[in-house]
Amino acid sequence: MPAELLGKDREELRTFCKGLGEPAFRGAQLYHAVYAERKFDFARMTNLPAALRERLATEARISLPEIRRRFKSQDGSARYLLDLPPDEERRTRNLLGEHPAAQRTSIEAVFMPSEGRQTICISTQAGCAVDCHFCLTAQLGLIRNLTPGEILAQVLLPLEEHKSDLAPQTNVVLMGQGEPLLNFDAVMTAVRILLDPDGVALSPKHVTLSTSGIVPGIERLAKEPVRPKLAISLNASQDEQRDALMPINRKYPLAMLLEAGRKYPLRPWEWLTFEYVLLGGVNDSPEDARRVVRLLAHLKAKVNLIPWNPGELPYDEPSADRVEEFRRILAEKGVPVFVRYSRGRDVMAACGQLALVEIQG
Ligand code: SF4
Repeated sequence: MPAELLGKDREELRTFCKGLGEPAFRGAQLYHAVYAERKFDFARMTNLPAALRERLATEARISLPEIRRRFKSQDGSARYLLDLPPDEERRTRNLLGEHPAAQRTSIEAVFMPSEGRQTICISTQAGCAVDCHFCLTAQLGLIRNLTPGEILAQVLLPLEEHKSDLAPQTNVVLMGQGEPLLNFDAVMTAVRILLDPDGVALSPKHVTLSTSGIVPGIERLAKEPVRPKLAISLNASQDEQRDALMPINRKYPLAMLLEAGRKYPLRPWEWLTFEYVLLGGVNDSPEDARRVVRLLAHLKAKVNLIPWNPGELPYDEPSADRVEEFRRILAEKGVPVFVRYSRGRDVMAACGQLALVEIQG
């Protein structure tokens, strides 16, 4: 059975090459070819000897997801609906007669070009178990954790597709389907390759992991020598309200979450980001804004206000006046605050809308 190479780090590729009887440095060359040069076909890896390329073609593989659909938004962003390659167990079951459609797992990634940069929003799990009530992904439930290769492919594929018109800066946000800190090891393997100067070579300033507030995961992330920026999805100003919107709050209530934020070792250039989805008439009052100011009083934190994106859920968009009032209260109290209108709403690509919806277009 050919070995899957996508998602392997440099050390694993060195070990793999040694296992083939090749010098270990070939592993580092393979690593560079896949992640820095985005060469997914061994025949194109001209930094490797021809004999090794031929051997790799039979003894290894680089399995990318299949792009089932691309939904292009009027604002220039694109939602990718990706079918993941079947894993080994499923391949074997399929040989035993399982229908191919029954083994297909799909995920979504969103590519958002803008002036001077592109931002790619990626999934870390297929579906999600966290059950935030304002989020359509929650309705899928957890299908499964993604592997490091499946996480990385969501960055590599769109970058390769847009290679002729890429802007100089690439941002990656781990904010698609899934709770990244509940798939910690695979996420961190992928993140280390994204941030490695010999790998995908993104800056830690441009990669953001967003969590619903998994406190043990935040504490674990704090100890990682290489890590992305951290964003915490707050969405409420008191426990009762957060319990109702995000059941995870019963396990990790606000005091515990904010304490984890207070202890989080920020790098000199870094701020904690709190995301706050504004739901009309639910959590968007001036009192909520004042409570948020008090909650964040002792943190080096900024706030992204995200007006809720409509989906088939029993919430309303906040009015423009409420959004502005909320923003003004935070800003006047010295909290850095930004209103983030999501991109790709017309193609179900915006925050909280990723639910594998297939639309015309
Ligand atoms: S907001 Fe994030 S953590 Fe919450 S259900 Fe949606 S995907 Fe999961």
